[in-house]
Amino acid sequence: MRLDRIDVYHVAMPLVEPWRTAYGEDYSIESILLKLTSGEDEAWGESTPFAAPCYSPEYAGGCFAVLRDCLAPTLIGRHIESAEELQAALAVFKGNHFAKAALDAAWWSLESVQTNKPLHVLWRADRDLALVGADFGVMDSLDDLLTAVGRAVDEGYTRVKLKFRAGWDLAMVEAVRAQHPKHPLHIDCNGGYTIDDAPLFQKLDKLGLAMIEQPLAGDDLWDHAQLQKKLETPICLDESITSFDRARKAVEMGACRYVNIKPGRVGGLTNAKRIHDWCRAAGLPCWVGGMLESAVGAHHCIALAMLDNFVYPADVFPSSRFYGRDLADPPIELTRDAEGRPAVRAATEPGNPSKPTPDRLRAFTRQKVSLVAATETE
Ligand code: MG
Repeated sequence: MRLDRIDVYHVAMPLVEPWRTAYGEDYSIESILLKLTSGEDEAWGESTPFAAPCYSPEYAGGCFAVLRDCLAPTLIGRHIESAEELQAALAVFKGNHFAKAALDAAWWSLESVQTNKPLHVLWRADRDLALVGADFGVMDSLDDLLTAVGRAVDEGYTRVKLKFRAGWDLAMVEAVRAQHPKHPLHIDCNGGYTIDDAPLFQKLDKLGLAMIEQPLAGDDLWDHAQLQKKLETPICLDESITSFDRARKAVEMGACRYVNIKPGRVGGLTNAKRIHDWCRAAGLPCWVGGMLESAVGAHHCIALAMLDNFVYPADVFPSSRFYGRDLADPPIELTRDAEGRPAVRAATEPGNPSKPTPDRLRAFTRQKVSLVAATETE
């Protein structure tokens, strides 16, 4: 397909309540929406690196700049016939995974439109339903958290994830575990600790957590491997998994026993699928993470979650969990599997079933740029 036009939007989507993690508080989610046009066809992608470089070294303003100045000018007007070709064209630029992911996602959406196949069908996934989990950030009080977790368990969520940071740590998990002795629980530390905190994590071993997500810094595979040797609880890496090679090395050195895959963090759906396939062959279970994307990006995560080695419930949420009005329509809604458990269903149509609504896109946009290819001559 020839990339005739690339529209890039840097947006700020207001949250219904702040999202509190080990690295701070977000009151809105800053994201990149990207529309690719080829002939009569168009499709959307999204990548959500947040407002500041706290989750990863990238941030939405920087992603917008590198897309505007480097990535989009490299691709505009070119014929890109495969996802591998797209990734190869961008490989000259180091890092900038979230920025590349916006183009990669939009390319896959366009491929889905042009082949007239839903994404998960294009990827030969053999299911159209995937379970989702419940996540809880740092809350105002332990009572608020226990009430919210109790509601999630009653609603049938098959696992609960708890954000974990200094002051909201061992006692918090012990309280939740006391109320739910058997329910699958895990914690997400967002890289807020060091190897010196190993004794704290060893105390968690007795609580039977499904995993400890990203206890140490994202760039520290070595200390994760040392920590995993001291723990019975599996470590799951999130921030550390920035590419296919990082995932392979992390697994080979014993730094984790689970891998969280977020398309943005690894440079797009193409790399996310590749990591999934390699982990499956290595016998390592994966799950799909989320970055509080709008419905545009969430649909890509849903399609990805249909691949068979995503065995732990995904971080995909109904739009109303975070947003008063989702940037895109229709919003994400959950469904139930045959046993009544919260789940997401893959789209039955090609392309992305949710598209930004013009009024919300206008209201949430902080900056935008459009690149248009010169007319092709015979
Ligand atoms: Mg995480």
